[in-house]
Amino acid sequence: MTLSFTYQGSAARIVFGRGTSARIGEWIEKLGCRSALVLSTPHQASDAEALAARLGSLSAGVFAKAAMHTPVAVTDEAVQVAAKLGADCVVSLGGGSTTGLGKAMALRTDIPQIVIPTTYAGSEVTPILGQTEGGQKTTLRDPKVVPEIVIYDPDLTLGLPVAMSVTSGLNAIAHAAEGLYAEDRNPIASLMAAEGMRALKDALPAIIRDAQDIAAREKALYGAWLCGTVLGQVAMSLHHKLCHTLGGSFDTSHAETHAIMLPHTIGFNAAVAGDLLRPVAEVFGGPPGPALYDFATSVGAPTRLKAFGLTETDLDRAAEIATRNPYSNPRPIDRGSIRRLLQQAWDGTRPRA
Ligand code: NAD
Repeated sequence: MTLSFTYQGSAARIVFGRGTSARIGEWIEKLGCRSALVLSTPHQASDAEALAARLGSLSAGVFAKAAMHTPVAVTDEAVQVAAKLGADCVVSLGGGSTTGLGKAMALRTDIPQIVIPTTYAGSEVTPILGQTEGGQKTTLRDPKVVPEIVIYDPDLTLGLPVAMSVTSGLNAIAHAAEGLYAEDRNPIASLMAAEGMRALKDALPAIIRDAQDIAAREKALYGAWLCGTVLGQVAMSLHHKLCHTLGGSFDTSHAETHAIMLPHTIGFNAAVAGDLLRPVAEVFGGPPGPALYDFATSVGAPTRLKAFGLTETDLDRAAEIATRNPYSNPRPIDRGSIRRLLQQAWDGTRPRA
């Protein structure tokens, strides 16, 4: 075997464990900060207010307007609010949308970030930031946006609805699966990918049986951290490109889109990257495409793009957009093959390979 790779670990400090979010004040102080602006979506505003109240004098206030795909106008407003309130750091409490807002603020102002993730999206450990302006989503990679501290407290994920836990978990599995065949893959990322998928494969069925199963919640969050770290380390390919196209151009829900597309994109690439995808086959117990499809349906994930209200004409456009610019993918792609793949995902057909 010939080994050749480069490896760059993340600078973020990871704090993992039940009850760890109670010590957030200490982490703010360890950063040398004194006044944190707590960020959240409107949906989690009351949790953000409660966190700010617990912080007492360490809280500058709450900004609860984070939104999916990080709209630039929201970021601009948040930067102004942070300056007006004299905040010297942000605490992002929530999923990828809230984390995205904190990262976008850091890109502009270098403000230190502490993230407390409450979904399995993984954005908190990546240097990636997607932003939208005028209906266009652009994505960048910049070490400036990597949060300083990530506090994974499984207790805070107990309230994540089961359906979202499933789709968010599949979103995480997608990072790991694509990381396995990344052009710039490395042995550490591949180990983390296999371990992350295994953790989520075990945890999601247990969460469905009992959303309050804290051991399962802990395992899922552990898996999410691993899978997110893979996303942050190596380049993603066809799967993420297609999900980005569908989300950016047709406003389909982020985690659900990943959940629906995963068996089809990984199955498509398995035709040429079967060896690299062996951990997927081992964890899910069969050829990657069908095995991922069977797992997704067993945990009640959505399976059809059609359910978003997309038309077959939309699929033509999506295939055209997703093949406009070249990017690395183990299997060569063209408009025809991607259009067929999208049709399969639209119909919700079980992939054959
Ligand atoms: P989200 O952050 O949009 O959350 C969806 C909804 O669930 C929100 O209303 C949120 O407040 C709510 N929610 C979150 N956690 C909850 C909990 N524990 N209990 C109850 N409600 C909860 O969803 P997401 O899938 O985590 O993130 C999607 C966004 O993140 C997209 O914009 C995507 O592009 C981005 N993302 C970025 C990266 C990256 O590396 N840059 C990685 C993954 C996702």
